[in-house]
Amino acid sequence: MTVALVTGITGQDGSYLAERLLSEGVELHGMVRPGDEASLPDGVHPHRVDLADQAGLRDLVLDVAPDEVYHLAGVSSVARSWQEPVLTAALTGMASAVLLDAALAVQERSGHPVRVVQASSAEIFGDPDRVPQDEGTTVRPTNPYGAAKAYAHHLVGVYRARGLHAVGAILFNHESPRRPPSFVTRKITQGAARVAVDGGGVITLGNLDARRDWGWAPDYVDALVRAARHHTALDVVVATGATHSVREFAEAALAHAGVGDPAAHLATDPAFTRPTDAAQLVGDPTRARTELGWSPTRSFEQIVAAMVDHDLELLR
Ligand code: GDP
Repeated sequence: MTVALVTGITGQDGSYLAERLLSEGVELHGMVRPGDEASLPDGVHPHRVDLADQAGLRDLVLDVAPDEVYHLAGVSSVARSWQEPVLTAALTGMASAVLLDAALAVQERSGHPVRVVQASSAEIFGDPDRVPQDEGTTVRPTNPYGAAKAYAHHLVGVYRARGLHAVGAILFNHESPRRPPSFVTRKITQGAARVAVDGGGVITLGNLDARRDWGWAPDYVDALVRAARHHTALDVVVATGATHSVREFAEAALAHAGVGDPAAHLATDPAFTRPTDAAQLVGDPTRARTELGWSPTRSFEQIVAAMVDHDLELLR
């Protein structure tokens, strides 16, 4: 039986990944932050370890001796990384060193391969001059989150060279109704539902012109599993290849919620703009398609609709 360890199992991606792995009969161990009260699906073996507890994290990997490790935990938003850059370095960057090194130790001790998937991010590219971005795009982050992810991404290459099946999955933005409202998509879909139900009001945002490549989170989880089990370890961009502005997302969400004149319900406040913000991030998913047989299953419009419908249901 495959044994998997997932860090960040209570987050958006972790929750979809848990459902996926449990449905396959995988023995699933989930690392949960002490104090995190989020519920886990039946069948998950929970382990309460703080990502900052390096000894605890190492012992967890050695004890579970997993076949597959999916490392999703960390400070997960650019916005928060500006408030807590040092914590971001420790949790989003250094914890990967502990995990990779412990995974290699398990592999050397047992003689069985350990496959590690690092959830990397388009933010490692910063504000790229090459469009779309692929696995060869220069890593040049422009915020503390991207810099921490870049360190971890480089370390994946280091441990791959030492014989570990270490995957750097460069995930572009991926959304779902499970996204917390600290991300712009869910903030917008909650706001659109509120405007529709109240019959008025505005959604107040930051940079409306930022363009992002938004995909469907369960698709990205599928790519992680495919990459873990692929015959070779690789870096792989997971993206749709399509890009939309924050404004387009907001107008599509308001329109789907049934609000006439969507533009009239949008406002901006500099409080929500960032010190630096990539104008456009868009990935080239060619390698994911050709090597992993992966492709996105939902369009931009379908993602917006699923999230708005969910938020309308919650309000009604
Ligand atoms: P991120 O790419 O992981 O930081 O995901 P976000 O969903 O937080 O941000 C995506 C884009 O939306 C960035 O370019 C933000 O600057 C932009 N944005 C515009 N207004 C807002 C807002 O009110 N909240 C957030 N979180 N992002 C915003």
